Amino acid sequence: APAQIAVTGLAVMGRNLARNLARNGFRVAVHNRSKGRTDALIQEFGHEGEFVPADDLPALVASLERPRKIIIMVQAGPATDAVIDELVPLLDEGDIVVDAGNAHFLDTRRRQDALQASGLHFVGSGVSGGEEGALNGPSIMPGGSVESYAALEPMLTKIAAQVGDQPCCVHVGPDGAGHFVKMLHNGIEYADMQLIAEAYDLLRHVLGLSPAELADVFRDWNTGDLESFLIEITADVLSQTDPTAGGAFVDIVLDQAEQKGTGRWTVQSTLDLGIPVSGMAEAVFARSLSGDVVRRSAAAGVLPGPASEKADVDRDAFIDDVRHALYSSKLVAYAQGFDAIRAASEQYDWDIDLGAMATIWRGGCIIRARFLDRIKEAYDRNPALPSLLVDDYFKEAVANGQEAWRRVVATAAQVGVPAPGFSAALSYYDGLRAERLPAALIQGLRDLFGAHTYKRVDQEGTYHLEWSGDRSETRS
Ligand code: NDP
Repeated sequence: APAQIAVTGLAVMGRNLARNLARNGFRVAVHNRSKGRTDALIQEFGHEGEFVPADDLPALVASLERPRKIIIMVQAGPATDAVIDELVPLLDEGDIVVDAGNAHFLDTRRRQDALQASGLHFVGSGVSGGEEGALNGPSIMPGGSVESYAALEPMLTKIAAQVGDQPCCVHVGPDGAGHFVKMLHNGIEYADMQLIAEAYDLLRHVLGLSPAELADVFRDWNTGDLESFLIEITADVLSQTDPTAGGAFVDIVLDQAEQKGTGRWTVQSTLDLGIPVSGMAEAVFARSLSGDVVRRSAAAGVLPGPASEKADVDRDAFIDDVRHALYSSKLVAYAQGFDAIRAASEQYDWDIDLGAMATIWRGGCIIRARFLDRIKEAYDRNPALPSLLVDDYFKEAVANGQEAWRRVVATAAQVGVPAPGFSAALSYYDGLRAERLPAALIQGLRDLFGAHTYKRVDQEGTYHLEWSGDRSETRS
């Protein structure tokens, strides 16, 4: 019998996705550029389900029922284009090509345009959860036509992570929408991790807690609003001892964070949309700073810090303050992230259901968390919500925590522990709620040096002051 779906690209992600499909009862055609990976898959996991191995793309295509559904899971970038170019001449109108790699959403838009011209459907789909997710249930964010999603839905929803009876897979929107939302997911993941790292750093410096004691703090936090995969694994990492030299594992790890680039993409793309995503941006900057060995070693022990690095705080009260700071900053980061999705949806006409995006991330992916239900509820209450922060739940959560949050940011500044995520989030919050911002002065400066004009609070129109002349006002 013909195969129902195909996967080409059988490195960790593709292999596990193919196994996931087979384990769920689908007949999967499998192919990889170098045949060794295909053979290895069949040899090691062939017994898990019905696999149809193919030596080349023509054989892969020939083994499929129509309309053909082919998932590409190769390296993002030129490799994906190479596979698409080889595949397209072999396909017929109505066939569906899925790119499940980490493509940039603008590449996905370009590829979608090209394939549409050949009468093919192109589905750019975000897949999150790493190799473990791909095997046991990822979070899936497919973009593309409604028609192509209808054809893929029974398979994708079956292999996706399930929360309750809900699959973590929703059709995001046309063309690049799925990959955009996947990119945003990664950006939020950056912000989440940075905030967790700041909470850890502050508690350690200010209270002098050991990593093992801190693991208990995070374990405790994981029973409340902060409950999430990342908080859970933070406790795991902090309680780990170094297998080589004993002591805390976290203390023997080089403090230079790496990045593959999706966080940077998120910040670049959202800057283009004009959306302030300071939580994600500070996270990317903090990783860059951590990796800047030259400047760090020139400054460490040379640039002075505060006279005293001690803060007069009560242990339990400070732990609770940091918990509030973490949660409030996290709410800000998500509010910014959803703002970015809304803005992109408007810019590209994607018509994304924001509440549904939160449900996709409840399982399978790295940012899975209890609090995502709150986002869904917020958009259910008001689909046109201008910012998550003005939703009643969010508003109250921050109101409850804001004094604590302010104390934590002040303490961080006082003792000289960097907390760019916490403080940028607080500044965003204060900027958002301000009745009046100093942007008025900036407009004045711009008008003075560049005749960039300004608007008045009391009248319509655009104005300019004759700064170098009689300082009269003209209306244009
Ligand atoms: P890699 O990104 O390491 O890519 C290796 C695969 O790409 C191999 O199958 C390789 O074939 C194939 N390939 C490379 N160049 C070409 C080419 N020119 N023509 C045909 N095939 C080519 O694999 P991963 O499994 O790690 O990731 C796959 C995709 O999933 C990537 O886009 C990645 O960004 C994305 N992703 C990865 C996650 C992860 O945790 N690793 C998580 C989520 C998404 P060959 O064996 O012949 O070299």
